[in-house]
Amino acid sequence: MEKIQMVDLKAQYAKIKPEVDQAIQNVLDTTAFINGPEVKDLQRELETYLGVKHVIPCANGTDALQMAMMALGLKPGDEIITASFTFVATAEVIALLQLVPVVVDVDPDTFNVSIDSIEKAITPRTKAIVPVHLFGQCADMDKIMALAAKHNLFVIEDACQAIGADYIHANGKTAKAGTIGHVSATSFFPSKNLGCYGDGGAIFTNDDELAAQLRMIANHGMKVRYYHDIIGVNSRLDSMQAAVLRIKLRKLDEYNAARRKAADYYDQAFRDIPQLKTPVRVKNSTHVFHQYTLVTNGIDRLKLQEFLASKDIPAMIYYPVPLHMQKAYLDSRYKEGDFPNTEALCKSVISLPMHTELTDEQLKYITDHVIAFIRG
Ligand SMILES: *Cc1c(COP(=O)(O)O)cnc(C)c1O
Repeated sequence: MEKIQMVDLKAQYAKIKPEVDQAIQNVLDTTAFINGPEVKDLQRELETYLGVKHVIPCANGTDALQMAMMALGLKPGDEIITASFTFVATAEVIALLQLVPVVVDVDPDTFNVSIDSIEKAITPRTKAIVPVHLFGQCADMDKIMALAAKHNLFVIEDACQAIGADYIHANGKTAKAGTIGHVSATSFFPSKNLGCYGDGGAIFTNDDELAAQLRMIANHGMKVRYYHDIIGVNSRLDSMQAAVLRIKLRKLDEYNAARRKAADYYDQAFRDIPQLKTPVRVKNSTHVFHQYTLVTNGIDRLKLQEFLASKDIPAMIYYPVPLHMQKAYLDSRYKEGDFPNTEALCKSVISLPMHTELTDEQLKYITDHVIAFIRG
């Protein structure tokens, strides 16, 4: 049996090596390293795949979030609502732009932002909501969009963990994660569901004006070379990354299906283990399992992690500390106990290996050992 990895990029690369090597060689041969044809092709292919009008490739997912907020013309002091149970990037860019991050609790079943908590956090200074489609399942976008419309707020989807997931609207129509809000961000970090071999990201929007603004922001605020109309940043996706992403985009649905198959295996194996709550799958979204995250109950998850490590099985805690308890974001507005669902999750979750190359043999080995630990 191959050694089990949290994310097995090596095994995945082995299967697409000839195509990837050729595509990288092509970029080397053309030396069009920045803004080469691969970037434009990826942009078009992503627009088609997602069914969105505009894709703006950029340097990483954090930049994508930051530029989305810059393009919306948000002003220092404006309040942005986001989930307390997430990766730090969301709050980081809000703070960097001198906006005010307002964190709210999540739903204990879906790990996604709770609609009631958002509603309670809205003030006259609120300008936007940033739902994070955590671990690969969409937040409740119909309700979030309705709330945003009622209060005249922007919705910026953080789709960094959910590319390829389908949201199913109340009317039965489906839309890809990241195509529902006013603007969305995704990441092509190597371990993401659509990952490149370095850093990368993209912004999605259906709004022509916003797209034009975003293209300028990503390129030093210029439309015409050396004429700078607004203050921008330098955030580009390079051609080699785009070349790799074009190959992997063609396989994205297959990759997400492989993740779902591994998740099904885990679900089945842990069905009768009361100490483990398997991920709750909602009716209005497909799940692309960026992570497979269990909520433990009545066991010492760190001991479980240690036991698994001794059997060469990696397991991770995503995320151990809620945003409002992070040193950089400690704020007199918040105290321990404010967000009971998030705080309970941070103390009880554990994520098992999840990637496109897990074999049944590996899955059996992992689940057998998890169960052996619990049954003692
Ligand atoms: C990965 C991630 C980001 C940041 O993406 P980078 O490309 O690493 O900058 C932002 N938000 C979430 C939820 C993520 O998972």
